[in-house]
Amino acid sequence: MTMLALEIGPHGFAASRVAEDVGEDDIRRSPIPARAAWDACRDLLLEVAGGDEVTSVGIGSAGPIDMAAGVVAPSEIAEWRTGFGIVEAVQKLFPAAPIHLAFDGVCLALAERNFGGTQDVMDALSIMVSDRIGGGVMIGGFVMVGRTGNAGHIGHVLVPGFDDLCECGGRGCLEAVAGGAFTLKWARAQGWQGKSVDDLIEAAQAGDEIALAALSRAGTALGRAIASVAALLDLDRVIVGGPLARPGTALWKSLGAAVATHARLSFLTGLRVVPSELGEVGVLAGAGVLALSVQG
Ligand SMILES: [Zn+2]
Repeated sequence: MTMLALEIGPHGFAASRVAEDVGEDDIRRSPIPARAAWDACRDLLLEVAGGDEVTSVGIGSAGPIDMAAGVVAPSEIAEWRTGFGIVEAVQKLFPAAPIHLAFDGVCLALAERNFGGTQDVMDALSIMVSDRIGGGVMIGGFVMVGRTGNAGHIGHVLVPGFDDLCECGGRGCLEAVAGGAFTLKWARAQGWQGKSVDDLIEAAQAGDEIALAALSRAGTALGRAIASVAALLDLDRVIVGGPLARPGTALWKSLGAAVATHARLSFLTGLRVVPSELGEVGVLAGAGVLALSVQG
């Protein structure tokens, strides 16, 4: 039995076999080329399959997706922005394999439930703060998928007190305030001159006031969104991961303060917001859970 997991974007493809002893060295990664994105994705899958008969494939993709149609339309992949039939394409490669596609936030929630920080609870939200912000929701132990497969898009929850223009066309979306790319943009607009999220975190740790303000701003927005969603869904735990959410920074301090300020209802007193321990493999691990779930 050869099961495969595939992660699509936003900045690259990753693929691996699904097995208990899979480590970082077993994961194959590829940047997304400007053209022929499918060719790069296909080559990665064939390399990982190694000529063996593939018995199932789980795919976690940056959203939005159309789960019923098997189509992904991540805005970061120019060629696929209007929709690419990933399930059909993968099916042609591995005709006998069942294929299960899910939004990357759903995969993240599956990975936290099976291997990470929500194994001991039933109601949780998992958030990934990369350049953009994704998430997945678990209620009663089940990860919510939604009508079209896009449940958990916390990046587009509105955050009171902010009106930053979002790429979705709205204003004040969490992603437009607290996503890594948008936080860097905000810091630069204030005069900061660094390049990356790592630079920003280092500068904040060295006491740079703009960097500190940028991380605090992102943390405040995250905390407000988390408090709202926790009240709506009666959550027990929220897991926050991703490069911008490295533990121990000003982001976490502001996030905690905002949650304490806004999550005041009695049923929220036990709410715990904690860093993810899955690192960068959450989505791929969740895609592995999908592959296992459709294994015949
Ligand atoms: Zn938006």
